[in-house]
Amino acid sequence: MEPLEARPLETLDQWDDFVKERYQPGKTRAEFRQYDDSTPPAVREFYRLNHTHQTVDFVRRMKAEYLPKQKGTMGIWEAMQRLETLVDDSDPDTSLSQMEHNLQTAEAIRADGHPRWFVLAGFIHDLGKVLCLYGEPQWAVVGDTFPVGCAYSDKIVFPEFFRENPDLGVPEYQTRLGIYQPGCGLDNVDLSWGHDEYLYHVVKDYLPEPALYMIRYHSFYPAHREGAYGYLMSDHDREMFDWVRRFSAYDLYSKSSARPDATSLRTYYENLVAEYFPAVISW
Ligand code: FE
Ligand code: FE
Repeated sequence: MEPLEARPLETLDQWDDFVKERYQPGKTRAEFRQYDDSTPPAVREFYRLNHTHQTVDFVRRMKAEYLPKQKGTMGIWEAMQRLETLVDDSDPDTSLSQMEHNLQTAEAIRADGHPRWFVLAGFIHDLGKVLCLYGEPQWAVVGDTFPVGCAYSDKIVFPEFFRENPDLGVPEYQTRLGIYQPGCGLDNVDLSWGHDEYLYHVVKDYLPEPALYMIRYHSFYPAHREGAYGYLMSDHDREMFDWVRRFSAYDLYSKSSARPDATSLRTYYENLVAEYFPAVISW
């Protein structure tokens, strides 16, 4: 487990809740900007660590470590259960468990009559948080993602916290394009490391492309919400981001007070998982 100072958040949900709060429907631009003052100190500290330590070197090291998927094999369901026991130390009265968030997201997608792979993407989209199981600090598991190796957009939440990032001192990384070519496509861009990118690599052989975009970019709020970094995207990325935005609405707004009944839904989701995934996959 990482040292305490790397874990300012009480639970990983505290970041998810902060994002939901920021993007509440009907919130005006001015209100939106006030998040700076009203943000809990733990969340600010979380972003300070994230923006300080997510560097080009760090992302490359994480990719070298995790993309070969040599941490072991486990089934989707087992991963879900392990995540549930690990991160769900929150107050059960005030916050939903990981499983409840997964089910509410998926059930809202299902209720709107979307394809089964879309429902499945909703069900598993946060499973990359098993990075916690490997002892990764919170700032390397969750957080709004952003490209490393090029100038930071002021559309990224708390841009001032980049001032301690060592990449600021690398001129090559601080131009608009940095190390990238215009329109090179996001597949050629290194985003800050976290649960999105990790899960994408774990599941990429099993799901249709729109589902993979949803999983890989759901925390890339600077792009899919704020419209930043369009100059790195390809036309294909732009097309696929329609799916990312559709997904994001379910991720953010499917939270309801009615708690899904995990027991009665279990058979449906077991079948859905089995339809797309073998019994175990590599992590
Ligand atoms: Fe997520
Ligand atoms: Fe989520």
